[in-house]
Amino acid sequence: MSEVRNVIIIGSGPSGYTAAVYAARASLSPLVFEGSVTAGGALMNTTEVENFPGFRDGIMGPALMDEMRAQAERFGAELVADDVVSVDLTGDIKIVRTADAEFRARSVVLATGSGYRKLGLPREDELSGRGVSWCATCDGFFFREQAIAVIGGGDSAVEEATFLTRFGSKVYLIHRRDELRASKIMQERAFADPKLEMVWNTEIASINGEDRLESLTLRDTVTGQQRQLDVTGLFIAIGHDPRSELLTGQVDLDDDGYVLVDHPSTATNLPGVFAAGDLVDHHYRQAITAAGTGCAAALDAERYVAALD
Ligand code: FAD
Repeated sequence: MSEVRNVIIIGSGPSGYTAAVYAARASLSPLVFEGSVTAGGALMNTTEVENFPGFRDGIMGPALMDEMRAQAERFGAELVADDVVSVDLTGDIKIVRTADAEFRARSVVLATGSGYRKLGLPREDELSGRGVSWCATCDGFFFREQAIAVIGGGDSAVEEATFLTRFGSKVYLIHRRDELRASKIMQERAFADPKLEMVWNTEIASINGEDRLESLTLRDTVTGQQRQLDVTGLFIAIGHDPRSELLTGQVDLDDDGYVLVDHPSTATNLPGVFAAGDLVDHHYRQAITAAGTGCAAALDAERYVAALD
């Protein structure tokens, strides 16, 4: 049977690697599951990151994640590029399984992040970080005095569109129906904004551009008619889903599937199980906030393990 580790960390974004740095420096010898194809987390899919403190000229997303990874390794974190396929977190000894092995630990940090919903159109992935974005806070600044489209109809789409009018010369909010789901007050603010134009009853038929986004082909959902809209920025705001499938039936989740923690700590309902990053966070969803809660989760795990001795 495998040895019982002090802490297993599941996830390799800013929250997982930060938890690994802290746990390793606390001599807990963490074992980190990074995922098989997605190691490094969400920032592996972007280009320039300009808002992570410490890099005055910005840093490319993958380079930032390489640095975090190397820092965790330097202090002795053991990194495994494999997916966790099931867990049993309810007992004193937590069980974590990959497709072909089983691991045991006294504590677990959950840091599997969340995924932005995609439109599922060709060129969407290729142009990610090259005009196509899922985060106005992260990327709005890159689109000063440019024409921008936002797609979605809920609160976050309207919030992103309103925020983007600070930067863009024009912001089109594209929605497939003729009314928004967003709250009344947000709608009123959006409709009053002279830079924001509603594009009703419309969906995106194609995303166009070679190296960067150049235009969208729009389809009218009522008439089926198509037309081209020249924009250099597209913000996709159709929702996001926490990666919490593994945890269903064990860890308490909210109605949207995010892990519930006992704020301001990272403790879940299960003793010895802590959660951090976008897996927990509906609101901020930034690399620095994920790193911050990853740090907190490692400190919480350290105290939990110390109390067991
Ligand atoms: P993630 O970064 O999502 O990492 C979680 C990782 O855990 C997964 O990718 C995977 O590798 C691993 N994992 C998941 N499930 C399993 C499993 N079962 N087994 C093993 N491993 C698993 N934020 C900023 O602050 N600035 C920016 O400029 C910025 N730009 C962005 C650009 C894009 C395109 C995107 C998508 C996001 C951007 N963000 C930015 C947001 C930021 O990336 C996230 O807030 C942050 O990465 C969340 O970190 P996390 O550690 O919680 O999760």
